Amino acid sequence: MLNKCVKNLFVFSVLFSNFSCLAAQGNLIIKDITLIDGTGRAAMSNMNILIEGEMIKKVQGSDFSKSERRGARIIKGKGKYLIPGLMDIHIHLVGSTKVSKEGIRKVALDRAKGIRALQGYLYSGVTSVYDSGNVPEYIFELREQERAGEISSPRIFAAGGIVTYPGSHGSGAGATLLNEWPSAIPALDKHLSWKPDMVKLTLEERGWGARPLIPLLPLSLMEEIIRYTNYEGVRTTAHAASELRAMQAIYAGVDSLSHPVITGPISDKFAPFMAIKQTPMATTLTIGENYSRLVEHPEFLEQALYQATFTKEEISQLKTEQRDKYKDATWTWWMKLMTPIAQENIRKINEAGGILALGTDKSSGPAVHREMELLVKAGIPIADVIRIATLHGAKFLGKDRELGSISAGKLADMVILDSDPLLDINNAKHINTVIKNGQVVDRSKLRIQ
Ligand SMILES: [Zn+2]
Repeated sequence: MLNKCVKNLFVFSVLFSNFSCLAAQGNLIIKDITLIDGTGRAAMSNMNILIEGEMIKKVQGSDFSKSERRGARIIKGKGKYLIPGLMDIHIHLVGSTKVSKEGIRKVALDRAKGIRALQGYLYSGVTSVYDSGNVPEYIFELREQERAGEISSPRIFAAGGIVTYPGSHGSGAGATLLNEWPSAIPALDKHLSWKPDMVKLTLEERGWGARPLIPLLPLSLMEEIIRYTNYEGVRTTAHAASELRAMQAIYAGVDSLSHPVITGPISDKFAPFMAIKQTPMATTLTIGENYSRLVEHPEFLEQALYQATFTKEEISQLKTEQRDKYKDATWTWWMKLMTPIAQENIRKINEAGGILALGTDKSSGPAVHREMELLVKAGIPIADVIRIATLHGAKFLGKDRELGSISAGKLADMVILDSDPLLDINNAKHINTVIKNGQVVDRSKLRIQ
């Protein structure tokens, strides 16, 4: 098939210099759609998008030429809305560990569960995820399968195991524990041999909320790890929960922050500081809010996206066992108290011009829609929320030259919506079509129920 294509291309290219095999075989054109391109600029009506192979070739108001239209599949966009594929830059894919009866988390691989969650992301319009800490052999195998086109999944970017100090936050299953420099180099080399898309560090001694103090990664060691990792061509991100630790992580050289400030209100100087530094910060409101939401409003699980992407057993487990567990946890009510504070911190950083990127710290497609709702409830304009959920996610990953907006020259990841998300962010749930890497996704195959 490919040989024939190449041969034809050779013969025809002598006659027509512009002829391309791909153009004749499978261009995709979206016609007359309202475009919200992810950059934050105003929506544009009656736009036409030409997708050639995996790339966005042209975005324009006028129609395409005859040769561009020849053989192309046309999607009629009249009355519909086009946004870039959503990105969740903080997940921990389910299916790698299980908590034992004694409450200890152990490695227990359940790939079917993980693949189901990945399908749920794609079904929900999420075309890229960054797994911010997982069992390396589990997540990197899935990443390989996704890149080979063997599984239906959003693009997978992954940290692998978390890198931190013995006993500190995140030093559980799969973690790489580093003690001191330079004796830590062989262990860090081994970690980097997995080819993580971004190394995840933690700068967290707890001692806030309902959590007792634990050891903290020393800043001098953190600096060495970041310098070494960056010199290997890999970006870094850090878990930090307070203004002080977030600022220290930035000065240690970190490339992004995995959480907003959640321990209390930020000072007046922090939002302008984040605008100056332009260090992308993940929003992760959903993780904190999900505990009390499940206790107080379990009916959210009746929403169409949850019903389509969770099994009946998962929903019933959440409504019973999980809900009972959350009801009695101090953490549930602490996080309920702190969520509005984190929302206000985030709103201020956005208003000042800092870069926020959508992350849920959860493991499901519908959670991405909840995160957008919580950002809108924080008082952030919807147009900004869409940019936070798309282009800023790509910036967080250092991939904004290839992903994150609907612009010529970028990879064709996008979602067609039946109603206007700028009027109500809930309209982003009215998904008509998902396109990943230039291919229309068959969503009917991704539904669970
Ligand atoms: Zn996390």
